[in-house]
Amino acid sequence: MEDCLFCKIIKGEVPSSKVYEDEEILAFKDIQPAAPIHILVIPKKHITSLAHLEEEDEAVIGRIYTVMNQIAEEQGFRQNGYRVIVNCGKDGGQEVMHLHFHLLAGKQLGEKIV
Ligand code: AMP
Ligand code: ZN
Repeated sequence: MEDCLFCKIIKGEVPSSKVYEDEEILAFKDIQPAAPIHILVIPKKHITSLAHLEEEDEAVIGRIYTVMNQIAEEQGFRQNGYRVIVNCGKDGGQEVMHLHFHLLAGKQLGEKIV
């Protein structure tokens, strides 16, 4: 989608520090890390938010969790654990309107809301 920052990252029009890529999924480092490890994992298909999921998106959402575990294994934080956050829409605090999973790790994370 034009004018979508993460679509531009997928197309290589905006630079990113890539961590993982396949046909359907891209993972790259967050530009403003909120933890020692802060990776964004996104579907390459432009999906605006969790609230815009369609039935055909179910498989890729499942695969994103497998990929996050793979990244955790490769980067050595699978055993210590990690946190996954998805902000959805205005009340959820979503700023970039292309579905993304925040993968946070590398320290004991504080500020639990739930
Ligand atoms: P959210 O508030 O859930 O929409 O998260 C958007 C995230 O995208 C924030 O954590 C930003 O730091 C991150 N971000 C914004 N621009 C870029 C960029 N060019 N490269 C990597 N991460 C970015
Ligand atoms: Zn997009």
